[in-house]
Amino acid sequence: MSLKAFNAGLHLDAGGIVAAQIIDGKAIADRIREELKARLARLVSSGVTPGLAAVLVGDNPGSRLYVKMKGEASEEMGLAHWTVRMPEDTPQQALLAEVARLNADPQVHGILVQQPLPPQISTEAAVLAVDPRKDVDCFHPENVGRVLIGNPRFAPATPAGVVELLVRSGNDPAGKDVVIAGRSNIVGKPLAALLMQKAPKANATVTVAHSATKDLAAHTRRADILVAAMGAPRMITADMVKEGAVVIDVGINRIPDATKKSGYRTVGDVDFAAVKEKVRAISPVPGGVGPMTIAMLLSNTVHAAELSLQT
Ligand code: NAD
Repeated sequence: MSLKAFNAGLHLDAGGIVAAQIIDGKAIADRIREELKARLARLVSSGVTPGLAAVLVGDNPGSRLYVKMKGEASEEMGLAHWTVRMPEDTPQQALLAEVARLNADPQVHGILVQQPLPPQISTEAAVLAVDPRKDVDCFHPENVGRVLIGNPRFAPATPAGVVELLVRSGNDPAGKDVVIAGRSNIVGKPLAALLMQKAPKANATVTVAHSATKDLAAHTRRADILVAAMGAPRMITADMVKEGAVVIDVGINRIPDATKKSGYRTVGDVDFAAVKEKVRAISPVPGGVGPMTIAMLLSNTVHAAELSLQT
């Protein structure tokens, strides 16, 4: 490790070798859940138990797992939760009717329609159907627009999780050059909208790279903070990262691994082993952004219940 990297804030480990800070998403998510408890207790004492309803259409194993994890996290926290399972061949109208029923149910404060949806259902129609006051995923255009103008109702869960990881690990984005690789509506675009605000936990100079970017490495190499959200297993290699940078890996990719009982293992979009030798701080996969997404979703559900008392 060079003196330049050391001066950039790298830590010495027990052997005196410079080591990157591994950003522990699970510990930070646990702290956020702990902080939510006081707000939850206030709601419960006012007679309101925040409730989260997840709608799962079809049998996608990834979606099943995500919905299960969100349900377990809600239960652990003391929130009410329901999973509405609908068959793969559900007509769009039936899904919209189910969402309308949940919109009208006062016990349900947050609604999420798990994506991806089967081809006969328009994702846009499903997103538009959710009452914006119950849209704890922050996918509805009204809520997306509010994030963009700096007056959010809900925090987009994964992007807000990335911001909390940065700030709570001592890597405030203010004034930094941030490069986001990926421009999806779920991660890249809302993260750019959060980080570019003139506001605390933001104030960064943001570049968004995507599949049509001419020279991805030229952008990633000048990032003080690099966020990888492409869904491309270990695509960010050490030569694409600046020494002393902070790297947040959003990617969740399954790759074949014969040594595992399942036959696969989960890796991010960053070549973690090589990149961690060069950077100041890095989030792992698993154990980085994943737990944060769930913590932010719980936080949004508590917030939705608080809002329901104001209307
Ligand atoms: P997506 O497929 O909707 O978008 C991927 C984006 O990456 C696109 O904008 C595309 O232009 C860009 N991209 C793809 N290949 C590229 C390349 N070679 N160079 C530059 N840009 C490229 O995916 P998404 O929903 O945004 O998810 C991205 C990744 O993050 C996936 O692995 C997903 O599983 C993961 N994810 C994780 C969480 C979490 O909670 N940790 C939440 C959402 C998504």
